[in-house]
Amino acid sequence: MLNGKTALVTGSTSGIGLGIAIELAKQGASIILNGFGDAEGPKAEVAAAMGASGAKLGYHGADMSKVAEIEAMMAYAAAEFGGVDILVNNAGIQHVAPIENFPTEKWDAIIAINLSAAFHATRLAIPGMRAKNWGRVISIASAHGLVGSANKVAYVAAKHGIVGMTKVVALETATTGITVNAICPGWVLTPLVQKQIDDRAANEKITVAQATKELLGEKEPSLQFTTPEQLGGLALFMCSPAADNVRGVAWANDGGWTAQ
Ligand code: NAD
Repeated sequence: MLNGKTALVTGSTSGIGLGIAIELAKQGASIILNGFGDAEGPKAEVAAAMGASGAKLGYHGADMSKVAEIEAMMAYAAAEFGGVDILVNNAGIQHVAPIENFPTEKWDAIIAINLSAAFHATRLAIPGMRAKNWGRVISIASAHGLVGSANKVAYVAAKHGIVGMTKVVALETATTGITVNAICPGWVLTPLVQKQIDDRAANEKITVAQATKELLGEKEPSLQFTTPEQLGGLALFMCSPAADNVRGVAWANDGGWTAQ
């Protein structure tokens, strides 16, 4: 389905980004990975998903908090892959603290990585998409793009920003073959959430299993984690012709979290 298309997934050395890259690779897309830490393991997983599709696999280690590095990554995509057809804005970090104790450098980092990075990657990807009259921008927002939770001021502000940006860019491209949408996951068991579970277990002196149960019970009526594979499936739908006129939505995949 995606043969001949190139997908750049930011923050794809782990968790949701890697899961989405794998699902896109299974459908024949060429993939550019990005993110910190070991890139060889994730590259091997994506290569296995590609099988014999003949698609190309690349990696760029841009720090998404740095505009010049994002620009270098987009230049690499243009030079080596002929541009980006599917941009998945996924890189993200979290910090949990009440506003009066929220470190200002954490605020700056979360706004830079979770919000401004998506602005920069999108503004740089859109001209190439316009030239081909086809493109997909899919930003991984969060249930926290739709509702708030205490102690997550920067994250919730950034994710609401992603939902707003999605609507604006969807309107600006509404008469073209480019669609711009957001996905709003509930809890997904990745390193980003495992840290919150471990902190909770330590703070409340309970087991990790108990902390996991509490975390789900508090927010997610299904009492189940959403999986990276499910989010990859939703991203695939957004890339399909059936979604040609799906524009500017913030699509929850959250076990009922935001239905409450
Ligand atoms: P994760 O920690 O498993 O992965 C984050 C990825 O981002 C990693 O590849 C990491 O290297 C990369 N990254 C971090 N800072 C970066 C930077 N400065 N430059 C480049 N790459 C950077 O986290 P995850 O849970 O897979 O989260 C992915 C996205 O999904 C985030 O935007 C997150 O807010 C969002 N999200 C996660 C959940 C969840 O429950 N896990 C729920 C809703 C939304």
